Amino acid sequence: MRTLVWYRGKDLRIADHEPLKVAARDGDVVPVFILDEYFFAPAAARRQPFRIQFLLDSLASLSANLEHLGSRLIVASGRSADLIPTLAAKWKVDRVVAQSWVAPVGRARDRLVSRKLAVPLQLFDTETLGTPGSLRTGNGDPYSVFSAFARAFARDVKVPPPLPAPRSLPPLPKDVKPGKQTLPSLKSLGITRNERVLEGGERAARERLKAWLRRDARDYDELRNLMAVDGTSRLGADLKFGTLSIRTVWQAVDRALRELSPDALRVYQNELLWREFAHSTLFDRPLLLQQPFRAEWRGFPWRDDEDGWLAWVQGRTGYPVVDAAARQLLATGFVHNRARMIAASFLAKHLLIDFRRGERHYYELLTDGDWANNDMGWQWSAGCGCDAQPWFRIFNPVTQGEKFDRDGAYVRAWVPELGLMPAKHIHAPWLAPPSVLAAAGVRLGANYPRPIVDHAVARQRFLDTAKRHLG
Ligand SMILES: Cc1cc2nc3c(=O)[nH]c(=O)nc-3n(C[C@H](O)[C@H](O)[C@H](O)COP(=O)(O)OP(=O)(O)OC[C@H]3O[C@@H](n4cnc5c(N)ncnc54)[C@H](O)[C@@H]3O)c2cc1C
Repeated sequence: MRTLVWYRGKDLRIADHEPLKVAARDGDVVPVFILDEYFFAPAAARRQPFRIQFLLDSLASLSANLEHLGSRLIVASGRSADLIPTLAAKWKVDRVVAQSWVAPVGRARDRLVSRKLAVPLQLFDTETLGTPGSLRTGNGDPYSVFSAFARAFARDVKVPPPLPAPRSLPPLPKDVKPGKQTLPSLKSLGITRNERVLEGGERAARERLKAWLRRDARDYDELRNLMAVDGTSRLGADLKFGTLSIRTVWQAVDRALRELSPDALRVYQNELLWREFAHSTLFDRPLLLQQPFRAEWRGFPWRDDEDGWLAWVQGRTGYPVVDAAARQLLATGFVHNRARMIAASFLAKHLLIDFRRGERHYYELLTDGDWANNDMGWQWSAGCGCDAQPWFRIFNPVTQGEKFDRDGAYVRAWVPELGLMPAKHIHAPWLAPPSVLAAAGVRLGANYPRPIVDHAVARQRFLDTAKRHLG
């Protein structure tokens, strides 16, 4: 049997890769990645430079790993919906195998490819721990409350152990000619390499996981909310691009922490279950990428506020934590989870700007930008999502800063204008005495903005608007 293993950007690994394993067990293997213009047209790639950098690193690593096993990754450029059926026919494969996608764009593509293929397309549900759409309430509905979903998961899902990488693979069959296409360089796409973006690829991912397990994992429950501390696992992009499988992470963390730190284990697995919940929710409700989960939010009167938007994007709102989050994103392609929540809430609630605009911005610039998790995060923060933050709870960026960046180190790292501000005043510089501002070299309205909205006024404006709209 000859199998085309279709890699599609969410499974860039050789370990715990069921499609690869099944293909290798049954005969000839033809691994393929399509450089789809959806991501790789230079203009599209330049809108999401950090993700493309991580993706290209990961593809280079996958290609080297497959060669090491005796095979090679064939790269072709075009629309996958056209190319996969053409290549499958040309190379006379008996089937195409791949990891399934939860995101609607991938499912639509797979339906199209499946119709065009003359051979079966076999999909494996390994993007998540359980099979998407399998957990149901007593009424047979998808869950919309996280805690109930997590209980059902604990009861019904047994996470299988990850599969080891194959020891070797058969060489490409002689009649399969790979063509001349290679992986594009960042330069050819017009992207400058950013050394602050995490390194992609399976080896880097494994090292990241190992280092975190050695270093901070045991204190995850305490460190995870501290914005200045690099105490979280930083595996978001690895899970998004599949340089580590979710089962591998689940098992490794379980093994490392079960005895050592059960609290940290419980809290970390809970976060992995939020990922599971987000994916499951998007699987069942694909329209969520266009509209709020709660029907009463449709037609919400968001404001057009270009100045507010630009200030939020560029980190010039005058609220130090919100600005630090914006600048961390622009500089590194990452934002700490707590800072994401504060910044997203600020955009939707303080500025009354449509959360979907922020969602798009995050999706493009976060290295871990992921349809399901990002949409869940934004709808949660705006208050319109599945099991969201109640709409009338509005984060105060000053008190959030004081609580989760007590000594101001997060702000100082990303907003150097405030580098010399004492901790006591760093989260609300406009309230600092003139002598403190002068000593820190801060000139409000000159080298650091005054707040673009007053917290109390903006809060009331949101509450009034939401009350009117939501009844
Ligand atoms: C507005 C907003 C946007 C977000 N956008 C994304 C996104 O595009 N991609 C993304 O992976 N996460 C997103 N998150 C969730 C979370 O912020 C990131 O997963 C986390 O910060 C990634 O860093 P880490 O790997 O160090 O996380 P850790 O704390 O080490 O968590 C481990 C893993 O658990 C999963 N996870 C953690 N928290 C969540 C969560 N709240 N929801 C779903 N999964 C979670 C992620 O896969 C993460 O890598 C968003 C959150 C908010 C509030």
